[in-house]
Amino acid sequence: MDQTEVTPSTDFIRDIINEHNRTNRFGGRVATRFPPEPNGYLHIGHAKSVCLNFGIAAQYGGTCNLRMDDTDPSGETLEYVESIIRDVKWLGFDWEDRLFYASVYYEQLYQYAIQLIQKGKAYVCSLSADEIREYRGTLTKPGKDSPYRTRSVEENLDLFKRMRAGEFEEGAHVLRAKIDMASPNVVMRDPVIFRVKKEPHYRTGTQWIIYPMYDFAHGLSDSIEGITHSICTLEFEINRPLYDWILNELKVACHPQQIEFARLNLSYAVLSKRRLIELVEKKYVSGWDDPRMPTIAGMRRRGYTPEAIRNFCERIGVAKNESIVDMALLEHCVRENLNEQAPRVMGVLHPLRVIIDNYPEGRLEDFDCPYHPQNPGRGSRKVPFSRILYIEREDFHEDPPKKFFRLAPHREVRLRYGYFIKCVNVVKDPKAGEVIEVHCTYDPETRSGFAPDGRKVDATIHWVSASHSLPAEVRLYDRLFRVANPLEEGPDFLEYLNPNSLEILKSCRVELSLASAAPASRYQFERVGYFCVDPVDSSNEALVFNRTVTLRDSWAKVIGQEKK
Ligand code: ATP
Ligand code: MG
Repeated sequence: MDQTEVTPSTDFIRDIINEHNRTNRFGGRVATRFPPEPNGYLHIGHAKSVCLNFGIAAQYGGTCNLRMDDTDPSGETLEYVESIIRDVKWLGFDWEDRLFYASVYYEQLYQYAIQLIQKGKAYVCSLSADEIREYRGTLTKPGKDSPYRTRSVEENLDLFKRMRAGEFEEGAHVLRAKIDMASPNVVMRDPVIFRVKKEPHYRTGTQWIIYPMYDFAHGLSDSIEGITHSICTLEFEINRPLYDWILNELKVACHPQQIEFARLNLSYAVLSKRRLIELVEKKYVSGWDDPRMPTIAGMRRRGYTPEAIRNFCERIGVAKNESIVDMALLEHCVRENLNEQAPRVMGVLHPLRVIIDNYPEGRLEDFDCPYHPQNPGRGSRKVPFSRILYIEREDFHEDPPKKFFRLAPHREVRLRYGYFIKCVNVVKDPKAGEVIEVHCTYDPETRSGFAPDGRKVDATIHWVSASHSLPAEVRLYDRLFRVANPLEEGPDFLEYLNPNSLEILKSCRVELSLASAAPASRYQFERVGYFCVDPVDSSNEALVFNRTVTLRDSWAKVIGQEKK
């Protein structure tokens, strides 16, 4: 980017970068990274970080790396790595050839640890984990020095090398930075930087027996990659002195600036890998990509678009204070994007048979229906019309209440893109008493959707031809939790799962044009909602749709109320 160009101040992170560019702290360079640990799938909180890091790099003409922060063999897998790659790509970001792994830096990190030992800035401690905790002190009480703190450099080097060689069991010895046991910041009280872990790693196998701790590995990995701005969430603010201490002691060439922002919290969801793993493992959901999950994979399967998610991240912005974002805002962004993008089609979720008594048997008409009525350029498709139709059960009322304007005995309505029909009779199930068939007549003069005599109808309803439509399964999703704050409500968030978060409708009917619908393609079923072809379970033989969002925008309602 041209150095004289001033990027407008839009948030505190960009302010910091602008200031760095003004003072030439990094020679005008902006290099960020997104550093997930591959121990779970990415969720919408990660999307915020992805959009932020890649967005800043793009805005300043810089680069953003994708780095697997894989320094802990427990729980990290190749499946997670692959899912992260897929999800970041799907969100629309490109790390070019800069996919890195912290595990590739193990040898370098080991050498850095040796350097610290040689400088007298790290020592092998042989206290047990409990003892280390006890010696650490508390927020109000200073810690006390480990009896091993004064070990000689030679002894430390010898022990650390033997830790690496696998001579000791887990927990027998750890390597600690020698900082200050009386520091008011507990993170600075001689933190552990390397530990023995006899567990194979998904990438390095059994090659390593010691693993660097996150705090040690992270800043050094940033430095190795030449990162300028290491953006992370607020809980790492107290780790920043340690981040800087390590880089200062090792006199590295590149010393990035750590900047913390508030993580995303979303109502009616949990955004913590540990909790999400629990939902998957205990089978409260069908998997990481269950459409009710707040994961990128779940949202993709649900029908959310990358544009909508990016737009959401842009709108929530970045700040320094924690808050909870309303799920309705995310749904609003999805709806807004699908309203523009999604072709309109007709689908009936709860079919009720309608017979048009005066329409000739065997006759078939093709109605030309636009995919996007406000946007004729988007084309159209043919929808067959015949004597027997299905309409939505709720569009008919035998004994209509006051404000019900749709089909009822002796009442006339318009069929979307078609004729006026009038109900002349109903057939009921003799046992249950429920209406199973509605008989109507149609007015052949109303093919255009208007009556030549100018008479009006109060409602237009959607429909499909009974024998020229397709059976489909439709899955209606609601929020996974029934309370806005499942983690704060009580000790066990699982108690607040919404028992009605999934409703499966097996006997829906959709228009014929959907026979060729591609997996994951998205539609508006007119008057019903937005749906996508389930990319996992749908097939040409058995169509399955996921409801992405309803048409009702509760966010617009919230905003509307605020304006009043
Ligand atoms: P979790 O809390 O879900 O276990 P994590 O922070 O341990 O997530 P990482 O894989 O370490 O997961 O996260 C990668 C990056 O994403 C980090 O930079 C982290 O700060 C950021 N991140 C994680 N959760 C959120 C969130 N809710 N909002 C914004 N950024 C997040
Ligand atoms: Mg983390």
